[in-house]
Amino acid sequence: MPARSISIVMPIYNEEALLDELFSRMLRVFDSIQTEFGLVCEWVLVNDGSRDHSLEMMTAKASSDSRVAIIDLSRNFGHQPAIQAGLEYASGDAVVVMDGDLQDPPELIPELIRSWQAGNKVVVAQRRSRAERGIKGMLFGLFHSMLGKLSDMKMDTGSGVFGLMDRRAVNDLLKLHERNRFLPGLRAWVGYDPAEVLYDREERAAGKPKQSFARLVKYGFDAIFSFSLKPLRAIWTLGFIVSTFSFFYALYLLLMRLFNINVVAGFTTPTVAILLLGGVQLISIGILGEYLGRIYDEVKQRPHYIIKEVIRRPNAD
Ligand code: UDP
Ligand code: MG
Repeated sequence: MPARSISIVMPIYNEEALLDELFSRMLRVFDSIQTEFGLVCEWVLVNDGSRDHSLEMMTAKASSDSRVAIIDLSRNFGHQPAIQAGLEYASGDAVVVMDGDLQDPPELIPELIRSWQAGNKVVVAQRRSRAERGIKGMLFGLFHSMLGKLSDMKMDTGSGVFGLMDRRAVNDLLKLHERNRFLPGLRAWVGYDPAEVLYDREERAAGKPKQSFARLVKYGFDAIFSFSLKPLRAIWTLGFIVSTFSFFYALYLLLMRLFNINVVAGFTTPTVAILLLGGVQLISIGILGEYLGRIYDEVKQRPHYIIKEVIRRPNAD
């Protein structure tokens, strides 16, 4: 059966400043998709507990346009859980995930669709350039190169959530139930040899970034610790190196004692050894704790989000 529909999933948190521009740009793209590809569009806006007028503005849109669906979450759950809510609701033959701050340009969607129609099950929008400058941009760059080296599997490190997945790939992705979600990683895990479409990432259209720095750090940790066991193995290697060194050093000290060479009660050596090993141990325990906390999070088996209401006009036609 030929593909008939496409869903766009978008998380929204306090975006009133740019919603009008978002509506007009998206709906223009929808019209072009309908004429060029003959696909029915469904726009799944996930309201992630916004405290401004975002919900009212979106509800007004949804009440006049049956293509727009709003999933109103019971509180702010965060970027990734909001996307998960949208993915579970979306019904399209393909699903596009993108941020709602216009950093992911809607005008790129037709290109993603073209690549999908050429047979690609997963299409990733790869950033040719990144809008973030200065320290934040540098940290992003550092994070992505670290993730590339640490990750236990090959990951396209320049991409964010923006991309398209065929229904098959979406269903596969929805089978992954882990709670600490890093969509670019999960999407890579699902496979299907992702195709790439390049784009220039824009500045957000208005308003401030809604992800706090702490959230971004947590997101980065999710990426590394969910897709890599290398930090655990690093502890083992470190322990091995320190132990080998200590063994030979102990042997050396013993020989010195036996032959009575240079036996002075020292202060420096034990102090340095204690401080160094103390530091190594604390870091190691921290890394173990990181995995343990994640295991605890997973075994609680809480839902990823709670839906307060789904707002959608019944389809008139
Ligand atoms: N967002 C969300 N919940 C949050 C934080 C952000 O749904 O708790 C949405 C936000 O409205 C935007 C997208 O996720 O559509 C990306 O957020 P932001 O631009 O703040 O993140 P950044 O670009 O800094 O990674
Ligand atoms: Mg943004």
